[in-house]
Amino acid sequence: MNSAQCFVDQIATNDILQRVTKVCSECYGDLKVGDHIYYDMQNYRYLCHICYSELNERMNEECEVIDEEGGLFA
Ligand SMILES: [Zn+2]
Repeated sequence: MNSAQCFVDQIATNDILQRVTKVCSECYGDLKVGDHIYYDMQNYRYLCHICYSELNERMNEECEVIDEEGGLFA
């Protein structure tokens, strides 16, 4: 269950929605305060739960590699 490492699971706040985005970067669906949103650390964007689930399944292995490389920038 390490695949979640390349996404940050957050609850949407007014702050995030106003400063960053009000829509999912993948499907452009509305994000609302209180929703679970997922910050994609590889692409620096927020995703809704549906797109997160799909991407996470597709990119499972790739995610783990990139997560290690990403550590260089942390
Ligand atoms: Zn979406």
